[in-house]
Amino acid sequence: MRVTTELTKSGCFYFSLVLILCQMVSVTWASATPNPWAKATQPASGAAESIGSPGAGCLRGAVKLNEDAMGVYLMRPQRGRSYGHPHLVQLIQTVGREFANKKAPPILIGDIGQPKGGPTMSAHASHQNGLDIDIWYFRPKSWIGRRVSLKQRAKLSAVGMVDKKHLKVNDLFESNQVELLRAFAEKPEVDRILVNFSIKRYLCLNHSKEAWIRKIRPWFGHDSHFHLRLKCDAKDISCKNGEDIPHGNGCDSSLDWWWSDEARQEEKKNFEKQSAPVMPTLPSQCDSVLSM
Ligand SMILES: [Zn+2]
Repeated sequence: MRVTTELTKSGCFYFSLVLILCQMVSVTWASATPNPWAKATQPASGAAESIGSPGAGCLRGAVKLNEDAMGVYLMRPQRGRSYGHPHLVQLIQTVGREFANKKAPPILIGDIGQPKGGPTMSAHASHQNGLDIDIWYFRPKSWIGRRVSLKQRAKLSAVGMVDKKHLKVNDLFESNQVELLRAFAEKPEVDRILVNFSIKRYLCLNHSKEAWIRKIRPWFGHDSHFHLRLKCDAKDISCKNGEDIPHGNGCDSSLDWWWSDEARQEEKKNFEKQSAPVMPTLPSQCDSVLSM
């Protein structure tokens, strides 16, 4: 099978559909298997530590992203997924400040993780060890330097940037979005960024000589937000990084696969898998994280 574990660990895609599925799945899962991780309201105390992998892990010493950090808007704050490893929150604040200082449009943040990480009650298979974050492509220029209320942000949905019929980016995807991807991909602590394969192709066609596009990896969905993953902190000994990114910028013939019939079948299978999440087996250290 062409799809590697690097990508199968990713989890979140089809953001708009996931929102609907979240509600359906959470009802089914909640009644069938109670998820204690979703009940945590406070981070586990102690020094920050990512434990396990994004698809089976948890987080000690999480910090909450400020809903109104400079140049940053936390979207759908009612979901309570605003906790991450301090390095991740720091990264968002740093890039947010950079954009605010040059009067660029703000960064709109989707899900990070739960206060103690761990599995969610929705179709997210990842976001468990505090190193994953969803960032919307949409960056409204009209929001520069403006206060947008939490109530307003609770209702908004991410905007798709892919023409799903022709499998290519639509007119909304432009330099504004490229600037956002570049700003994050150039940060050394960022391990990879998953985007819709049509967005990767756009970057290959227009920015192939730029080193940062190597970190931009093609995946299904992710047409309205991208999924960023940090590298494990070297001192977090039980934190598991994903497979290494292959050499090169990823613009070779391997990219063509995403337009094949096989890819369409994989896409369907992945979507079905996302719709029926299973509780992963977590590292034993997560027991103490949960009980704190
Ligand atoms: Zn994600």
